Amino acid sequence: MGEKLWFHGKITREQAERLLYPPETGLFLVRESTNYPGDYTLCVSCDGKVEHYRIIYHDGKLSIDEEEYFDNLMQLVEHYTKDADGLCTRLIKPKLMEGTVAAQDEFSRSGWAMNRKDLKLIQTIGKGEFGDVMVGDYRGTKVAVKCIKHDATAQAFLAEASVMTQLRHTNLVQLLGVIVEERGSLFIVTEYMAKGSLVDYLRSRGRTVLGGECLLKFSLYVCEAMEYLEANNFVHRDLAARNVLVSDDNIAKVSDFGLTKEASSTQDTAKLPVKWTSPEALREKKFSTKSDVWSYGVLLWEIYSFGRVPYPRIPLKEVVPRVEKGYKMEAPDGCPAAVYDLMKQCWTLDPAGRPSFRLLREKLQHIRAKELHL
Ligand code: AMP
Repeated sequence: MGEKLWFHGKITREQAERLLYPPETGLFLVRESTNYPGDYTLCVSCDGKVEHYRIIYHDGKLSIDEEEYFDNLMQLVEHYTKDADGLCTRLIKPKLMEGTVAAQDEFSRSGWAMNRKDLKLIQTIGKGEFGDVMVGDYRGTKVAVKCIKHDATAQAFLAEASVMTQLRHTNLVQLLGVIVEERGSLFIVTEYMAKGSLVDYLRSRGRTVLGGECLLKFSLYVCEAMEYLEANNFVHRDLAARNVLVSDDNIAKVSDFGLTKEASSTQDTAKLPVKWTSPEALREKKFSTKSDVWSYGVLLWEIYSFGRVPYPRIPLKEVVPRVEKGYKMEAPDGCPAAVYDLMKQCWTLDPAGRPSFRLLREKLQHIRAKELHL
């Protein structure tokens, strides 16, 4: 991890002050300046208060007092560790990025830390909500790499990481390893899913290529992954066809679990995918396996409509009020009645009235067995 563990990236002044509490003269950290992008701020605890020194970046050099200049932050910190040189105190004790350190340690111990040197990033294949997705090569294996810049998302992921390393199922996109970089950037390495997202797959192939058997298979794959998450008390929160990926051999796998906690725990419900999120999750942020079941109903609808956007022809603003009054989408063209019946059960307003993934899986298998006999 190198020596820059006192570097906390883009945190606010208030967050910095909280990190330097309780007061301890000489306790310090460096953050990226929120007011002056590109500049840094040195925050030092001194006699019970926190001083914030702006570090100016000028002509490739860093300086606090415009007398003493440094090539990099390491040199600057080292200088002020030896001598206060005008600061309220000399720098005595770095406030470490604890989350990162703990996570990195845990990854190393559990064998999930990958070596950056073994990973070749080849090209960008997608832009996700959380950063670029690239295809890479890890010791001869083609892999997908999510590059998450150091921020709240990375922190949230690190917090969830120990759970994610324990999840393993044929229909979950498998985590292969994690690289935490010095500055707190994060690479999440997963298996490569050659055929991209399910929604694109459905749209590009369409009705003429994909038969009923195929749609049912996708529905079952996703359901089996969700049954597994249900059994492990893991809530996905963002289940949708865009977050299901298809492998080279046409296996659908659920992706992006463990990345969504942060977005939904903030007060910002505006960011939630309204058409996929259950009413109680939108209203009171009550996320549960049952809210995943609601989303699964929408995902079933996406599958059987070959990747259409849900609630067609209804303005986004009207979706929630209408759904709360009990409105349910119609069956997609050609959708078997038994499958549509499952969608409607998933869209029961009372979460307790919705089926479990286990029951959904049993019913889907039953539907499949019947279709195969016809
Ligand atoms: P995401 O950040 O998960 O929304 O990913 C954005 C896009 O990157 C997806 O729509 C896929 O096209 C691509 N992608 C993400 N993960 C993988 C993966 N494991 N294998 C192949 N492509 C991926």
